[in-house]
Amino acid sequence: MRFSKKLVVPPGTKVNLADWDPDETFGFKKGAQVERLIAKTIARLDDLQNLLWASKQRALLVVLQSPDAGGKDGTIRHVMSGMSPQGCRVTAFKVPTPEELRHDFLWRVHSVVPAKGEVGIFNRSHYEDVLVVRVRDLVPRGVWSKRYDEINNFERLLAENSVTVLKFFLHISKDEQKERFAERIKDRTKQWKLEKSDLEDRERWGEYVEAYEEALGRCNTAEAPWFIIPANKKWFRNLAVSSILVEAMEGMKLTFPKPSFDLSRVHLK
Ligand code: ADP
Repeated sequence: MRFSKKLVVPPGTKVNLADWDPDETFGFKKGAQVERLIAKTIARLDDLQNLLWASKQRALLVVLQSPDAGGKDGTIRHVMSGMSPQGCRVTAFKVPTPEELRHDFLWRVHSVVPAKGEVGIFNRSHYEDVLVVRVRDLVPRGVWSKRYDEINNFERLLAENSVTVLKFFLHISKDEQKERFAERIKDRTKQWKLEKSDLEDRERWGEYVEAYEEALGRCNTAEAPWFIIPANKKWFRNLAVSSILVEAMEGMKLTFPKPSFDLSRVHLK
């Protein structure tokens, strides 16, 4: 199955998250067979990242957004298990610092976009500036409403400069979030993950859904598409994201660089 075809948001369509089932697995079932497929996908990712790094022809930018407890950290851990730390950088976007706030909202983002040969993974991203910022009224509507076009222009600039931009929305249900929060409250090793603001944001679930739908619909282009990943089941989420990365890197048609000198003349002693 081509995961990218099934899960991509067709450019130009309006997004209604209720149409996307967070429990979908397309007939895949948890078990030994899927485990083998996941392992194979990760091994392939490893080979392709090595090729990306060696060829220095393109960069890959992976954007991860989700509601709290949606599985961004788990996805990163999974994808990173198929990447060499050399040439791969994860950036987590937090509440902007005073210095960041003195610049335009894309300033901190542009500076960490991967260079040719590299993979960049964004744990949250410039989309926070039309999500939390919109829902919590952190800037006036007149400011955030212009950002959809600004984001599209920015992502087009990246795409035209050899950066493949893939954006993943990890789609969990409100019930699944409740279970994951409850687990965090119960488990001493997970309590640190729960913030008061996560509970406040849960109360604004509906407003976030509207904000996600608008971002996923308006900032979705052929060169920087959104994928909506059914993420209630962690194993499916991992399989889907790593498969889409493999498909994207295979599509780059990368080639290893030619040796810098004539190897046929080498006689090792
Ligand atoms: P996470 O929840 O991703 O594990 P944190 O607990 O550190 O990590 O949360 C980061 C916080 O920073 C989130 O609440 C997020 O909404 C917030 N944030 C990120 N970018 C922005 C932004 N541009 N403006 C305001 N808040 C932001």
